[in-house]
Formats: sequence, structure tokens, C-alpha cells
Amino acid sequence: MPALAESLVPVFNEVIQRNPGETEFHQAVREVLESLAPVVDKHPEYADAEVIRRLCEPERQIIFRVPWIDDSGHVQLNRGFRVQFNSALGPYKGGLRFHPSVYLGIIKFLGFEQIFKNSLTGLPIGGGKGGSDFDPKGKSDREVMRFCQSFMTELYRHIGEHTDVPAGDIGVGGREIGYLFGQYKRLTNRYESGVLTGKGLGWGGSQVRTEATGYGTVYFVDEMLKHKGQSLDGKRVVVSGSGNVAIHAIDKVHQLGGRVVACSDSDGYVVDESGIDLELLKEIKNGHRGRVSEYAQARGADATYVSDGSIWDVPTQIALPCATQNELGAEGARSLVKNGCIVVAEGANMPTTPEAISLLTEAGVLFAPGKAANAGGVATSALEMQQNASRDSWTFDYTEERLSTIMRALHRECLTTAEEYGQPGDYVAGANIAGFIKVADAMLALGI
Ligand code: GLU
Repeated sequence: MPALAESLVPVFNEVIQRNPGETEFHQAVREVLESLAPVVDKHPEYADAEVIRRLCEPERQIIFRVPWIDDSGHVQLNRGFRVQFNSALGPYKGGLRFHPSVYLGIIKFLGFEQIFKNSLTGLPIGGGKGGSDFDPKGKSDREVMRFCQSFMTELYRHIGEHTDVPAGDIGVGGREIGYLFGQYKRLTNRYESGVLTGKGLGWGGSQVRTEATGYGTVYFVDEMLKHKGQSLDGKRVVVSGSGNVAIHAIDKVHQLGGRVVACSDSDGYVVDESGIDLELLKEIKNGHRGRVSEYAQARGADATYVSDGSIWDVPTQIALPCATQNELGAEGARSLVKNGCIVVAEGANMPTTPEAISLLTEAGVLFAPGKAANAGGVATSALEMQQNASRDSWTFDYTEERLSTIMRALHRECLTTAEEYGQPGDYVAGANIAGFIKVADAMLALGI
């Protein structure tokens, strides 16, 4: 692990001591602090105002009870979270994750990442995140609806278009946003479109929001390759996951001439040498929330399904981890390097472990961290907020053009910042430093 600047050691120790057992949060903080050594040298004003210490402590953390009634009439109980991490640049902004693994440490790591990601978009949004340990898998529509209504019955008092604007993340898509928005509207008697993003197109949603995270990741990769005089055309790509981010990453890779040969879910992965058939995958995933094993079955001899292996063993030039945190570890990184991978870009949040990042970058693989490479989702959420504020709705082409411009500018900013702070070509340093400086300057300007 790279060392921390001496002045940041007590800051990091304080984070561990204040947040015991929250390992994912410690990991996310450590990664950012490691990048900030050249910044603290250059800007003593940040240390004077304890900006980094203050940044590591959420402005507000809300934990609440979520009782709901299942289809057999039994009372079920979950825990809800919203961490309002930093509002120096704008209202808190960030998704909601519904997954059994959710606890405060996961929400804090995601909220912390969101601060820098949102700052990098250049749009006026602060950082936050929320969710619940509710497991949507196997639940009926009505159960999901009752859960969402109960969740919002507490959350509504903490959010608002100028306060905090949640959206989706793992386990929260258009269906959940609809139920959440409906309950917010019922409770407040306000059609406040800008309180949530990821809404349906007929009721305040934005074109391209569904596609945005996956598309944005691939735009970012396209820029990384261009910078090296290469392109996606003819490249072999592996995408982990098969949810919203993965599906639209696959779509954009294919549009730009690459070929995605494998994708996965939590049970296994499928290899399809002729390129993943996106229509079939969408039919299975979006049609009935099915599994990739069904994709393999439907493709017969043309595809192979592997239930007990690692998708990172599939040889590829480009790897896009688009599933979940810490899914790409040291072993996966070694396989990717051995098989000649040249680019890894994170479509998910923190999918690559610190050890894997070191292995990849030391081997000369170009590595893009999620807070840069997957910023297209939240950037398009901010575009949705703009449309809601002006009671307007833009065309698909215009919105996609805006997204593409944002991702290309963000890529440039990572590179120029890395260069300016003496780490040319280091996207992790570039993203962390560029994201940090905007927030830190705003915090200085706003006083303690
Ligand atoms: N959950 C997404 C992310 O990780 C999107 C957040 C949003 O649109 O507010 O960035």
C-alpha cells in the first residue's frame, strides 16, 4: 500500500477510530488520502482549516426503522440509511442501494466517493448516499411497493430538491423510484419533480439517464484509448455484472466497434465469443429479472456458462468491472495482466481492491477509478434536475451530447491535474485531486 503523507496519518487514524468496523469506508478514505500528499504540500490553507478532517466526517447521518407487511400478512423489518456527506457544492446527491449487504459502512463509503465524483462532473451537486438492507430479490411488486412507501415515510422529511436528491443504485431502478416518488408526493402534496432522479420518462425523467452510467464509462475508456493513439474498434472487452450499468456499457462498446465476450451475475459468468447478444440479455434481465445462466441456455452451443470461476480469467484487452465493490482482487488482476489486458475502467463503485489496483498499474495497465469512469450516471441525474427546474425536457440526442461532453472534459481534467501534481498518466491521483480541490475550495469559502 502506498504511504500516507505524515500530516494525514492522524486524520486517517481518526477516521478508523470514529467509524469502527466500517472497512469499506476506511478503504475509500485511504485511497483518497494517499493521493493528497502533493496537495497538502502545495496548499497549507487546507490544513489550517482542517478541511480534510472535516471532509471525512459526514455532515449528517440518518438511520431509521422500515417496517412493512409482506404478501402473507407478516410484519417485516429493515433498516434504512441516508448519509448526507457534503453539501459544499450543492444539495446532497447520490443513489439509494437496496441490498442485504448494506450497513452504515457501505453507505458511508459510497457517500464519500460520491463527493469527489459529483465534484468532477463540474455540476452543482454535493455528495450523499442511502439505502437499506432490504433484499428485493424474490419479492413481489406489491412487496417492493410497500417497502418503498415505508422507506419514504421516514426519508421524506430529510430530502427535497434544494436539500438532498436521491436516485437509484444497486436494487433501485425505475420501478422503485416510481413508488418512492409517489409516496413523497402523497406525503407532501407537492409535485416536486427535482426531489428524485431516475424518474420515468413520462413523469419528469430524463432521456439517457438509464443508459448514462454505462455509456459514460465507455466514453471515458474511448478517451483513454484515444490518448494512447488507439480506439475501441475491434477490441475484445469483458464486462462484469449484467445490471443497468453493465447492459449499457455493453451497448456502447458494441456501438463503438468493440466486442464484449463475457458478462456475469452473482451466480456465474457467461462467455459468448461472437459478442453478447444484447437484445437477448435485456429480455432476460429486464423482462423477468432472470439470470445469465438463462442467457447461456438460450444461446446453446454458442455460449459457455461457468458457475464456479472468475470472469477475470477470460482473456481480454479491456475489463470493465460493473457489478459491485471489491469484485476484482489480486488474483483477478494477475490474470488480466497475464492475458494482456491494457485498460481497466470501473463502471461500479470501488470494484477493484487496493492490491489489485497496484498490480494493474505497476504492470502498466491503464486504470480508471469509478469516481471518474462512472460519473456519467450522476452527471445525467444533474441534467435531469436542470430539466425539472426549468420544466423542460430535452431530446435523447441533445442529452447524450451533453453527457459525452461532460465525460470527455472530465477525462481531460483527470490527466491535466495528475500532470500538474507530478503524477502524469495516473487517473487515480488526477480524479482524487481534481475532485478534492473544488470541494475543499468551496469549504474554505463557506467558512467553518
Ligand atoms: N448511484 C449512482 C452513482 O453511484 C447514481 C447516483 C445519482 O444519480 O444520484 O453515482
